[in-house]
Amino acid sequence: MFDATWRQADTQARADLVKYKLRLIGVPDSRNGVERLADNYANLPRTADNKYPTVRQHYFPSTNDSGGVNQAHNGIGIDAGVEDPNLMANAGYDVPSWSSASIETRIEAVAVHEMIEVDHPSSDSSVRHSDAILNAPEEAANYTISAEALQILHEQRASWLAKQ
Ligand SMILES: [Zn+2]
Repeated sequence: MFDATWRQADTQARADLVKYKLRLIGVPDSRNGVERLADNYANLPRTADNKYPTVRQHYFPSTNDSGGVNQAHNGIGIDAGVEDPNLMANAGYDVPSWSSASIETRIEAVAVHEMIEVDHPSSDSSVRHSDAILNAPEEAANYTISAEALQILHEQRASWLAKQ
């Protein structure tokens, strides 16, 4: 059902689906979407503390090489990479469960990964990424995701470890 809705949805509707899905997974509103300046921000009223107004972007349709994005200590989003069955293989990971998974399942797996990165203490993106891969299967217990999504996280870790 989710995937059928997704495939028919335009960019805005996909953003709404991501926001809804991340909330169901257990991503707090404070991390749901990456904050950016609102469109036409200069012509909009300032906030109460005199800042330009911002919005949270949940879906990134023109990025398709990672599945997810995060801005440190701010928020996470999902990109069009979740539609690509070959995403993991192209990134050098052997994760057969990714290829066969639904888009909804892939979003669940990506969300856990990005949530580890977003509040990671290191400013080194490669450290954050490796740590997310290593810890995602256990961190997943803090979120409501499917067994299939958990399988993706396990397979990604095993594939990553096999290359070290
Ligand atoms: Zn990462």
